[in-house]
Amino acid sequence: MKIIIASGNLGKIKEFKALMPNDEVVPFKEVVGDMDIIENGDTFAANAIIKVKAIYEKLEDTSDVIVISDDSGISVPVLNNEPNIYSARYAGVGATDKQNNEKLILKLKKQNLKKTAAFYTACIAIMYKEEIYTVHGWMYGDVIDKEIGEGGFGYDPMFIPDGYDKTLGELDFQIKKEFSHRTKALELAKKVLDVIL
Ligand code: IMP
Repeated sequence: MKIIIASGNLGKIKEFKALMPNDEVVPFKEVVGDMDIIENGDTFAANAIIKVKAIYEKLEDTSDVIVISDDSGISVPVLNNEPNIYSARYAGVGATDKQNNEKLILKLKKQNLKKTAAFYTACIAIMYKEEIYTVHGWMYGDVIDKEIGEGGFGYDPMFIPDGYDKTLGELDFQIKKEFSHRTKALELAKKVLDVIL
């Protein structure tokens, strides 16, 4: 069965491929070409559903495919949970990871916070034979007021997972793979697939 990932985020695609090594995991661009999806939902789940439907509806043949989307982000409770669903466009539409991180660092510095609690959320939506299923996963830790390390993507160089003293930018890719928000959501997604396939 072909699994189409409704995301253009190379970091996410790399993680999905690593998490599903026995499946044919294909980024949507290779199947339906480039397209802009307007993510105007007000929750991770709403946006994950918008993405999965947009790609599914573009497919000519849906008989033997599963489309999976992921809407995710980081939330910082002391900042009223910012940036949350706006994680990818925290510093504005089209912002780079670097620009988003700089904005978060600025917000932390304004409050003299060197380190504060934060968590990642991932909502995965699955669309198969016209039905949509959603699952969530979370990863808890702290964000710090600087970037350390080159690994991962997005906010990873600022995020120290609970139980570690290094950022996800410094830690090995395999460590994040063990307990990330995306891993946890995908574990639940696999259970859904076991039932519906
Ligand atoms: P989305 O592609 O619209 O779901 O936006 C996700 C954004 O959340 C990314 O651009 C990152 O800024 C952030 N994000 C989500 N998951 C991760 C992760 O695992 N590591 C780092 N940043 C993440």
